[in-house]
Amino acid sequence: MLKDNNSVPYQIKVSRRARKMRLAVACDSTVTLTLPSGMAIRAAEKFVAAKLSWIKRALEYFKTHPVKPKAKAVRGEYKKFKHQALSLAQAKVKQWAEFYGVNYQRISIKNQKTRWGSCSRKGNLNFNYRIVHLRSELLDYLVVHEVCHLKEFNHSRKFWAEVAKAAPNYKQLRAELRAYGF
Ligand SMILES: [Zn+2]
Repeated sequence: MLKDNNSVPYQIKVSRRARKMRLAVACDSTVTLTLPSGMAIRAAEKFVAAKLSWIKRALEYFKTHPVKPKAKAVRGEYKKFKHQALSLAQAKVKQWAEFYGVNYQRISIKNQKTRWGSCSRKGNLNFNYRIVHLRSELLDYLVVHEVCHLKEFNHSRKFWAEVAKAAPNYKQLRAELRAYGF
């Protein structure tokens, strides 16, 4: 059922479980009033009228902050940044591989949900396209970490001692990188 109250259309849902009236504005601009069963429509109209300025503010918010489908937005971002991410990774890997005196094979950029980077036993290095958003100290730590795996394929004390040669504050940097989601 659709009701119109002072130019804001809203939908009424009658719910047996609801104990009181509840208003919700969804990101597609639909306004829904949940009404406990047995409650008079007139009470609902009064309730909506009292909340009108709140509803209008919420509608205005969604108009100025359109919600995009997330997967599509992420794919678009990956496409936009992957080339930049690749040249960034190539330059940094070259620099740190020289520093550590190691050889590597291929560098690829991935759209991974859970990792910043990885290193295979064959010597291939992968980095997340989101590295373009990292400040340079964090990016250096990440690349140093993966390059050190070319020497030590584990997280042993020996591995961390290698990392510390280039990034003495690696513990702090590692924690910071983890705080960014993965
Ligand atoms: Zn590692």
